[in-house]
Formats: sequence, structure tokens, C-alpha cells
Amino acid sequence: MEAIEEVLDAQQTAIQLIDERKQFHQNALAYFNKCIGDRDVGLSYHVISVFGSQSSGKSTLLNYLFNTTFDTMDAQVKRQQTTKGIWLAHTRNVNTTNESQNQTADLFVLDVEGSDGAERGEDQDFERKAALFAISVSEVLIVNMWEQQIGLYQGNNMALLKTVFEVNLSLFGKNPNGHKVLLLFVIRDHVGITPLSSLRDSLVTELEKVWSELNKPIECENSSLYDFFDLEFVGLAHKLLQADEFHAGVKKLGDSFTRKDVEPHYFKPQYHHNLPLDGWIMYSENCWEQVENNRDLDLPTQQILVARFKTDEVAQEALVVFNSQYSDAVDEFFDDREKLGESLKTLKEECLTYYDERAYRYAEAVYLEKRSELIAKMEIEFAKTVRQFLDTLSDALLKKLEVDAMDKKTSRLPFVEKVQNAKNSIKDEFLLAVSYFQQLGLLKTVGESIQSFDEIVEAKTEELRKEEIGTTTSVVTKAITMKVKEQTIHYLSNPEKDTWDKILEMFEKVIQLSLSRYEVSRGIYDFQVGFSEDENEMVYKKIRSKAWHVLNVTVHDYLKPDTIVSILRDKFETKFRYDDNDSPRLWKNEEEIDRAFSLAKEQALDVLNVLSFAATSDHVEVVPEFFDNDNQEDDVYEDELGIEHSRHFAHILNELQKEKVLQAFKRQINLTVLDSKRSIIKTTTS
Ligand code: GDP
Ligand code: MG
Repeated sequence: MEAIEEVLDAQQTAIQLIDERKQFHQNALAYFNKCIGDRDVGLSYHVISVFGSQSSGKSTLLNYLFNTTFDTMDAQVKRQQTTKGIWLAHTRNVNTTNESQNQTADLFVLDVEGSDGAERGEDQDFERKAALFAISVSEVLIVNMWEQQIGLYQGNNMALLKTVFEVNLSLFGKNPNGHKVLLLFVIRDHVGITPLSSLRDSLVTELEKVWSELNKPIECENSSLYDFFDLEFVGLAHKLLQADEFHAGVKKLGDSFTRKDVEPHYFKPQYHHNLPLDGWIMYSENCWEQVENNRDLDLPTQQILVARFKTDEVAQEALVVFNSQYSDAVDEFFDDREKLGESLKTLKEECLTYYDERAYRYAEAVYLEKRSELIAKMEIEFAKTVRQFLDTLSDALLKKLEVDAMDKKTSRLPFVEKVQNAKNSIKDEFLLAVSYFQQLGLLKTVGESIQSFDEIVEAKTEELRKEEIGTTTSVVTKAITMKVKEQTIHYLSNPEKDTWDKILEMFEKVIQLSLSRYEVSRGIYDFQVGFSEDENEMVYKKIRSKAWHVLNVTVHDYLKPDTIVSILRDKFETKFRYDDNDSPRLWKNEEEIDRAFSLAKEQALDVLNVLSFAATSDHVEVVPEFFDNDNQEDDVYEDELGIEHSRHFAHILNELQKEKVLQAFKRQINLTVLDSKRSIIKTTTS
């Protein structure tokens, strides 16, 4: 606060609008208010700033012209040092030819004070920022230069201007309102031998050349220097050697700032920012913030700045080319790996060539960095496409695996071997595709693709194996069912004492035969479908369980009491009516009939036991194998498929049923024997 008071006391004193720490003055408004007082200034104020190399007499000129009190080298002797920053002073007192002139409009004058410090880079950075700031907030920028500097493209002036033009364009290039800044070239120590007009010509030539070499943003690619700037030129005599001429020149200069009737007049509506004073403060603070915080401006060299801009622009263009051709490059060749790869590779090369040709001459680090970014962007697309390709390929290969594994016509190899061969072949093919794209640089990470494909293949194999097991099991079971049924009925319909021995023997034989016929007996099974021992055991058990079920159903469905009666009767009739040579008997007498009758009946009744209770010839009850040993208690055993097996498989007829069968049988054979006896009576009586 104290500093401000001090500043405000002495109205002519300048303030540090931007200090050496690059901070914008926090009380600028108070200073402005103090300068203006109660007057309503509106828009009738002007902002002027100065640009030029160190110690080129800028502050001296400003002080003479505007009656400001900026520090000068001469004053520095007294004050020992000048303070770096952008200084702002206010004046209404311009030095003109009209001695009696009263106060002029409010002028705000910006003086840039660099440092003579050793850190050249730092200083350059500040110089550039200060110039950029000055150009963006002022109506008139005084470009202060020695006459000898002209045409030399040195003294840093033109180089600095070039940078400032360039950044100014990139930051404020849009310029929709046609705003302009007056560049007022004040040529110091103008001796007069070279006329001002030729100095002007060479400056204009230089400026236009600088402008043409600028890297312009696209939106102002064709803009001209004069879209943004007006140019004026003034020569001033040497202050010390031609003091009178110098002072006269300054006064004349003052006229152009104050009098509208004098040509040229330096303030034009186009230069004004059309902001009330407080708005201008806010605007300039924003400008400073933008200038100060702009990352590009911090970069030590202009080349990098430009390189950033240009390489980015070119990379964008290359991407546009890339995107516009991408779907053509992909769609046409999507079913052909090599063509797809070639097409993508070509597209990548084309785009890189496009970029390289236009961007290679910019700062190498930036050029390379942007190039990698471009490649990364293309690679994202490639990865998508390649993944899509691999997905499609993966689907096709899985189908191939299925076809090959299930192929029974062309290959007689065991299933496991067929699957293994097919697996190897499709894995090879997939790997080939993956490494093909990797080699072309179209696919970065391959591990993931390969792993997920392997997983899919394993899952598919497992699925196929289960299917194969299912098919094999059902084929085997079907064969067993048919044979067991047929054979069992065959044995039961013509029963003997050892019928159950035969049935059990047949049962085992059929199972073994069926398994071996389909090469799935227990031993081979492992090798065939790739079963684990447990699985092997399980499938074998399943097959046997089904076989027992068939046997059970067949026996109990077939051996109903009526059927048993007719089996017995068949048995009886065969024995009774036919002799040992299978010839029909001709009865001679009743004794003969009675003898044959009791023999046949006895034999038939012998097998009633066989048919009513399943037991081996040595009288062991037939019990399904599920009730062996450890399963002694339950009467019913249910297997994994829900098929129930009864311990009492053997019990076909109970005592009551047996009695009924016996009665029916006896009734029928009695009729038979009666018929036979009648036939004798007939033959003997007739
Ligand atoms: P600034 O750093 O550009 O602000 O320069 P100053 O205004 O501080 O002046 C630097 C030195 O140049 C001082 O010693 C001045 O006396 C001297 N000087 C000022 N005006 C002129 C001039 O017209 N011609 C010459 N040759 N020297 C000048
Ligand atoms: Mg100075």
C-alpha cells in the first residue's frame, strides 16, 4: 500500500504494471483512477508502447515526448539501477510544436525495461513476452532503432519482431474485427544522408520478407502484414550531437499524437480496443496471463515454437489422408491376410511420407515426437482392425477344428489324435497370422491374442470331447440294448435249467463285444477320447448300468404270467407231441400217452422255476452288480442317470402267481392229453 501511496503522490511517476517477477500490478485500477480523477474519460484515452533493443534511447525518447519520468541510463547514474519490468506512465502533457497547447487526451505509455543480466535466454524470454504483450494492448507500438541497424537484420529487432508476429498470429490471429496496430518506426541518430524514404523502403522490404517467412496458422495463411499493421516511419536526429534538430523532431512527433489536422495522425479508431479504462486493465491482465502462461512462449527458441505448430498441423493432415483411405484399405482385403497387411502397411507408409516430406525440416526433437504420436494414432486403428481380423480367423479355425475332429470318413485315426492334429494345425495358422501382423508392425502385443485363442481352443476341444463321449456312449448303449433284448428273449422263450448262466454269459459278452467293436473297452478309452481314469470308470459304469436296466426291463416285461404259461405249454407240447427226431407222435394206446404226458409235464415244470426266479444252475440268485459287497442294505440303487435297479431282480413270479400259472398250465395240458386220448378212441372205434 505504501508503495502505491508513494506512486499516487507523484502523479508523473510510472508504476510497474508488470514487475520483475512477472506479476501484474494488483492496484493498477487505483493508479488509473488517481490519474483520471473525477473526469469522465470514456474511450478517449490511448495506449502507446515502445519496442527496441536495450539502451537504444527508448526511455529518453518517451520522457522527452510525453513528459514521463521513466528511468534512463542517464538517470541510472543517480539511482544506480533500473528495475526490470513493464512500466506504465500516464500523461496529458505531450511535447508539441504548439507551445501554448493545453492538456491533451489521456495517454498511457508503456516502457519496457529489460535486464542487462548475463542470463541471455531468460532475458530474451522476457523481451519476447513484453513485446507480445505490448503489441496486444497498445494502439501504437514505437519501434525504436538506430539508423545503422537498418538492413542488417541484426540487433535482434527483426528476429524478435518475427517471433512476435508469429506468436501474435497464433494467439490472436483470428482478428474478426479487423483490429490493427500502428507500428511507428522511429529511426534514431538519423544523420540525413540516406533519405528517410529509402530507409523506409528497406524496412518495408525487410518486414514483408519476414512476414512471408512466417509460419502462419491455417486460418490466416494468406493474410498480409497490412491486415494487422499500419506502418509509419520517422527519423530523429542525434540527441546529443544535433540537440536542436532532435528536440524539433520530438515536437513534430508530438503533433502527430495530438493534432488531428496534422498528417499523419497516429490514433485511428481501428487501433483502439474500445474498452473503458477499467475494461482495458482487465483485458491487459488477461493478455498478460495468456502471454505468460502460454507454454509455447516459454520455449527458448522460436524454432521449437514453430515446429510444434507446423508438425501438429501436418500430422493432422496426414491423419485426414489416413482416415479417408482407411476403410477402403481394410474392406477390400478383409478376407486375405497378406493383402490386408500389405494394404495397411502401404497406407501407413504413405501417411508417414506425407508427414515426413512436410515436417522433416522443423526442429528434429519435435518432428520425431509428433511422428511417434502420429504412428501411435494409426496403430490404434490397426490394432482394432487386426483384432477384428483375428476374431474372424479364430471363428473360422474353430469351425475347422470341429470338422476335422468329427470327420469319420477321411480319417480313421482315434479321436484324440485327430483333435490333437487339428489343434496343432489351427494354432500354427493363428500364430502365423499374429506374427505376420506383428512383423509388419501392425500389432504391438501378441501375447494376449495368442493366450485368448489358446483358451478358446481348449474350451472347444473339451466341448468336442464331451460330445464325442456322448455319441460313443449312446452308440455303444444302443448296440447293447438291442442285443441284450434279443438274446434274453431268445433264451427265455426256450428255457433250460442253465438259462440264467447263459443269459449272464451273454450279457458280459455283449458288453465287451460292443465296447471293443467301438474301440472303447476300458483300456483303449483313455487313449481314445483322452479320459481321465475317473471319467473312464464313470462312462464304463454308465454303460453297464444301462445294460442292466435293459436286461431288467426285458426280463420283467417279457415274463408275464400268461407268457410263462405259453412258454411252459410250448415246452410241454414239443416234448409231448414230437419224438426225439422231432416227428409227430402217433399214439398207439393210452399208456403210451400217459407216459409221454408225465415226462413232458415234468420237464415243463422243471423250467417254471427257472422262469419265476432268476438263479444260476448252482442256485445262486442273480443280483445286479450294484449290490455287490459294500452295498448290502438298500433294496434299490439309483445311478447317476436316475435309473433305478432293484436288488430283487431275480424275483419274477411270487408264490401266488406261480400257483396260478401252474393251474392254467395244467388245465391246458389236460385238455391236450384229453384230445390225444379221444383221437385214439376215434381211430379204434371207427
Ligand atoms: P533505453 O534502455 O532504450 O531505455 O535507453 P535510455 O533511454 O536509458 O538511453 C540509453 C543511453 O542512450 C543513454 O545514455 C542516453 O543518453 C543515450 N541516448 C539517448 N538518446 C540518444 C540519442 O538520440 N542518440 C544517442 N546516440 N544516444 C542517446
Ligand atoms: Mg529504458
